[in-house]
Amino acid sequence: MSDASDCLFCRIAAGDIPSTRVYEDERTIAFMDINPGSRGHLLVIPRAHSADVLEIDPEDLAAVALTAQTMAQRVKDKLAADGINLINSCGPLAWQTVFHFHMHVIPRYEGDTLRLPWQPTPGDRDDVAAAARALTP
Ligand code: 5GP
Ligand code: ZN
Repeated sequence: MSDASDCLFCRIAAGDIPSTRVYEDERTIAFMDINPGSRGHLLVIPRAHSADVLEIDPEDLAAVALTAQTMAQRVKDKLAADGINLINSCGPLAWQTVFHFHMHVIPRYEGDTLRLPWQPTPGDRDDVAAAARALTP
């Protein structure tokens, strides 16, 4: 297991690296993905480090699932998403690139062209910020 000093998402959780947070509670944080596959694409992480779904504390997994559900409802209500993909990747073969457990919440829109795996490209910063504002109560 890596620790906070060499894990990108631990550093984001600690606030050492900036992120656009849209939700947080005792166990979880949700923030905007910097390379969004669609408008409003966000990530839910546990505050505590674990590499993947095989390693995560079951209570953290449950907490992440509940936050993902909260955010799924929000993208539907606030961004008018027509559908939502919740995606977790476990291991490089399954597309995992950051080894701190995370759930993608990816809004889908009627007629969108998103295909999986999406090609990570930086999002428009203003639009990501606008989507984040809409998602933050
Ligand atoms: P994975 O490929 O492991 O399933 O997902 C990792 C996600 O983290 C990618 O979608 C990628 O765009 C996102 N990501 C990587 N680095 C950063 C960062 O520094 N900040 C934010 N907000 N997202 C990041
Ligand atoms: Zn970590």
